[in-house]
Amino acid sequence: MRHRIAVVGAGPAGLAFARVLHRHGHPVTVLERDPARDARPPGGTLDLHEGLGQRALDKAGLLAEFQALSRPEGQAMRVLDTDGTVLRDWRPRPDERANPEIDRGQLRDLLLGPLDVQWGRSVTRVVPGTPDGVRVHLADGRQETFDLAVGADGAWSRVRPAVSPATPHYTGVTSVETSLDDVDNRHPGLARLIGDGSVAVYGVNRAVVAQRNSGGHVKVYARFRAPLDWHADLDLADAEAVRSSLLRLFDGWAAPVLDLLRHGTAFVHRPIHVLPVAHTWTHVPGVTLLGDAAHLMPPLGAGANLAMLEGAELAEAVAAGPGDLDEAVRAFEERMWARAGRWAEITTAGLERLVSPDPAEALALFESVQPT
Ligand SMILES: Cc1cc2nc3c(=O)[nH]c(=O)nc-3n(C[C@H](O)[C@H](O)[C@H](O)COP(=O)(O)OP(=O)(O)OC[C@H]3O[C@@H](n4cnc5c(N)ncnc54)[C@H](O)[C@@H]3O)c2cc1C
Repeated sequence: MRHRIAVVGAGPAGLAFARVLHRHGHPVTVLERDPARDARPPGGTLDLHEGLGQRALDKAGLLAEFQALSRPEGQAMRVLDTDGTVLRDWRPRPDERANPEIDRGQLRDLLLGPLDVQWGRSVTRVVPGTPDGVRVHLADGRQETFDLAVGADGAWSRVRPAVSPATPHYTGVTSVETSLDDVDNRHPGLARLIGDGSVAVYGVNRAVVAQRNSGGHVKVYARFRAPLDWHADLDLADAEAVRSSLLRLFDGWAAPVLDLLRHGTAFVHRPIHVLPVAHTWTHVPGVTLLGDAAHLMPPLGAGANLAMLEGAELAEAVAAGPGDLDEAVRAFEERMWARAGRWAEITTAGLERLVSPDPAEALALFESVQPT
């Protein structure tokens, strides 16, 4: 008898889980809230680490396809002072494959492959311990029952309350995201500034980071310390008003850095929330969590990597059956908690240093992870 498995969420965690199960010939129901594959913009670029995200892709049999799509040159990183002086300019060796970049949309398509995702199926809650197994309630009023429901539904998970009362809290750092299109033709000066990878500028309690995606697309992130309601007097839907507010906030910074904000097309506010570091729960038979649902942490290059590796590892544990499914999940959770706890500490400390009263902290952090 095959276990009846559902995964809630078709992000990096849910798709890696479903794809590795699929590779092992194990059926899985994927329930995703988005009404369609391209219902919203897929987001920016992700760097996938050799020991994390790339390992997950290897388990899914997708490493060669990833290598063909990804951008090793995207690992390049330049750090500027707020007056525009180049402080560091790190470029990867041609054979450097530790953290190549891939667009989120490309990664999603790679993982989706043959998977049959049920789009437009929003889960409202799960109830473990019914005589039939764990009951999954959907927004359309329907209910389905499984042996295991996996919550891979991100920061504001609807599955999480079945195992833990934890909810994300605001870090005190917020982020406003904008983008530039066709940067090489429309803004060649900025294209040179950004180079093949990223440029980061760190000031007092604020930072601007620009990252090249494929096809001449660039994502720009303005990060700063502010109360959650910093925009109380601002209409966030009014791009010109948000732009002016950001230009005031970064007043005095070098003109090319401000141009990254000046030429941005639309602005999206993303306050940075996290779950408690080392979030764990008392194991509940029939339900578990993956990725951000389990351990939301600052967005410093680990979240999607962990999410994917967890998805792949849980899938292998489940597919190894027909042993005790619950024991397999319990053992997986212990492994996930230990690894994610270490990364939550690293990224929490990292955010403190990258958006810090002392910008020298950010440079010191950069040097500790990249050779000078
Ligand atoms: C600006 C930014 C940059 C980042 N850069 C990196 C990086 O370079 N490297 C890295 O490793 N990480 C990065 N991260 C972190 C990374 O994006 C997340 O950790 C990762 O997306 C988590 O994957 P997930 O599958 O757990 O959750 P998500 O990506 O949030 O996916 C959850 C899915 O569940 C669906 N869903 C939600 N609720 C429901 C529901 N009730 N019913 C059904 N479906 C539902 C959602 O629609 C979504 O498809 C970054 C994050 C941000 C914000």
